[in-house]
Amino acid sequence: MRPLAQCQALMAAVLASAAAVASTSAPAQDRLGERAAMIGTIKLHAGSAPSAIEGGQGIDPAVLETMGKVPRHLFVPEEQRGAAYRDRPLPIGYGQTISQPFIVALMTDLINVGPGDAVLEIGTGSGYQAAVLSPLAAKVYSIEIIPELGERAAARLAELHFDNVEVKVGDGYYGWPAHAPFDGIVVTAAASHIPPPLVEQLAKGGRMVVPVGGPFVTQFLMLVEKRRDGSITTRQLLPVAFVPLRGGRAR
Ligand code: SAH
Repeated sequence: MRPLAQCQALMAAVLASAAAVASTSAPAQDRLGERAAMIGTIKLHAGSAPSAIEGGQGIDPAVLETMGKVPRHLFVPEEQRGAAYRDRPLPIGYGQTISQPFIVALMTDLINVGPGDAVLEIGTGSGYQAAVLSPLAAKVYSIEIIPELGERAAARLAELHFDNVEVKVGDGYYGWPAHAPFDGIVVTAAASHIPPPLVEQLAKGGRMVVPVGGPFVTQFLMLVEKRRDGSITTRQLLPVAFVPLRGGRAR
């Protein structure tokens, strides 16, 4: 695994070339060139962190294809649209951020979503990660603790016809028992520990990705697998920086 600083230097170079390809005058629905450049950047970034990716095979082409279609610029505030396809997180209001494209790709890849799967996301934020999961899964459930963000994301997802996504406002630490078990769980805010209710709600054969660590220390992306016999394995993948998971027992 490359140290983060080295990855960032590499990314800066890649971003400069991506920006050259991007067209700023493209109509709102378009941005195909920028998305293609973003996919190229994700592949490069994946090449620099192969140990984090399943079997070192790179990001699943189906995940990249989906990310090539989802209009990320429509999930960020208007003043951020020019930067929407750069490989970095962006502010989405209320002190929260939309994750950088590489992390969205990696997390989606790691849970191995299949067409019949039910997936749970904790931390809807802008709704972008849910939108990326939507075409790959049968059903996506997403929980957001900040009502304004949750309501806005639900409206945006409906408007863009991501019809198999259901958003609710609440504390995701406790999961969504009514729809459990889930074949995949993606937690997009960092907790001090892996929330036990989420492990409980993971289906046998299911996978969860979750950033673990405090706000001022290095967090690690963890992969949790529930085997067919119900036993749990966890693997620490790579250092990450997420906003904190709030709520009841998250700290
Ligand atoms: N997945 C989002 C990015 C989310 S940032 C996207 O694609 O845009 C993390 C989000 O987690 C924030 O919106 C934050 O409000 C939310 N969050 C924090 N703690 C939470 C909790 N306990 N339950 C649900 N959402 C939570």
